Amino acid sequence: MRDVDQKSAEESPYECFDCGHVVLAENNPGQCPDCGGEIRNRHTPLE
Ligand SMILES: [Zn+2]
Repeated sequence: MRDVDQKSAEESPYECFDCGHVVLAENNPGQCPDCGGEIRNRHTPLE
């Protein structure tokens, strides 16, 4: 099986707890650029 074209950089979507703003970043940005709220990774790796 093949995935749809993956980006070369390992960017994953992080979502703001407060406003739902989604940020694509390689590492957890820590804070929402929009409201300064807490950011979490939307995709928890399944192993
Ligand atoms: Zn936010």
